[in-house]
Amino acid sequence: MTALDERTEVLTSRRLLDLVDTVIDTERLDLTASSLANATTDPEPRPAPLDVSRAWEAVDPASAPATLAAYRADWTRFTRWCVEHGRPALPAAPAVVAEYLTAVGRPAGSRACAPSTLVRWVSAINKVHLAHGMTPPGQSAPVRSILAEARQARDAGAPRSAPLALDDLRAMLAAIEPERAVWPTAVAARRDTALLLLGFAGALRRSELIELTLADVTIEPAVGLRIRGGGAGHRRDRPVRMLPFGQDPVTCAPCAWTAWRQILDAWDGADPAGGRRAVLVELHRRPGGERPGHVCRDAVLEPVGRDAPRAQRSLFPGVHRSGAIAGTAMTGEAVRKMVRRRAQGAGVTEPPGASLGAHSLRSGFITEALRRGADPRAVMAQTGHRDLAAVQAYAHRVAPPPADAVALLDL
Ligand SMILES: [Zn+2]
Repeated sequence: MTALDERTEVLTSRRLLDLVDTVIDTERLDLTASSLANATTDPEPRPAPLDVSRAWEAVDPASAPATLAAYRADWTRFTRWCVEHGRPALPAAPAVVAEYLTAVGRPAGSRACAPSTLVRWVSAINKVHLAHGMTPPGQSAPVRSILAEARQARDAGAPRSAPLALDDLRAMLAAIEPERAVWPTAVAARRDTALLLLGFAGALRRSELIELTLADVTIEPAVGLRIRGGGAGHRRDRPVRMLPFGQDPVTCAPCAWTAWRQILDAWDGADPAGGRRAVLVELHRRPGGERPGHVCRDAVLEPVGRDAPRAQRSLFPGVHRSGAIAGTAMTGEAVRKMVRRRAQGAGVTEPPGASLGAHSLRSGFITEALRRGADPRAVMAQTGHRDLAAVQAYAHRVAPPPADAVALLDL
């Protein structure tokens, strides 16, 4: 199975409702094809042309019926479009599939189909080609780049999420700094510092950030923080993220994580007087506000194994302004608001037409890494992107294509 197929299997059942409006038009296509055949009065015997509308029958019926029905509807939609536009459907040139995806799936001026839908369409086209021993056009560069662009557009959300510049992140961390030693602001300040640095250096998606548990993040001597990869279902291909020890304690992700875990552990601890008192004691013992240096290398934190009672405790729970720490994770909206509030607090201005949000951490990392000359493939290892084209789309934004070609025209 290809990656496309696997994803399609997962996504199909969710998209079934979409299929209600894609009533299969096979009969009309049959008529079209047979009437065309009848009209042929050529007496010379020729190899029978492939009946595109019946081409589906060659596809291995091993998939679940619902999945097959979805693919079949997708194939029918494609062949209908090909007939209407005079394009050969079998074999279909990569450029034709790319044209189809753009025209039907992402029409200018109207709502674009979900990337998962486009992936399924391509998968259906590939299946028919493979069943007839033809090269699947969906694996070609033009088609892959359209799918990558669609994912890119989805990830960016609407309004588009602005990448956070490293200098802006530094400014935000510096603005948080004074709050880190004072009750009760220290609680949210330390959580936010850790979230911003883990999100940025780990290039984590918003969903990944809010799903992190204590057992997911460990510290490895001489290396840094390790964020566990993998997961169930569509998350199984999440990469392991390594966040090395930083030079500057203010931007050191292991330091931020350590200082936050100290507070979180104190709050959750067995102190009979309650979490608040334990946190105050912790703050008094390790003020941390003046930043004497790194706390990441010599801090002794109780490791939380996967079977430990607190293994499933959210690493980034909600924090009340009273300093109380919730048992449940922040919502995605809470993360977005926090990033915006911290940015405003540091005087970071948002670019026009885009706003800062949780995705700004991930896109900021990619943008900064590429700007500093990182190999896009190395960036992919940290982001977990499947397709190089998705990372290269950021590279185009960092460095627009040279204008030489336009200059040549001498307009
Ligand atoms: Zn450190």
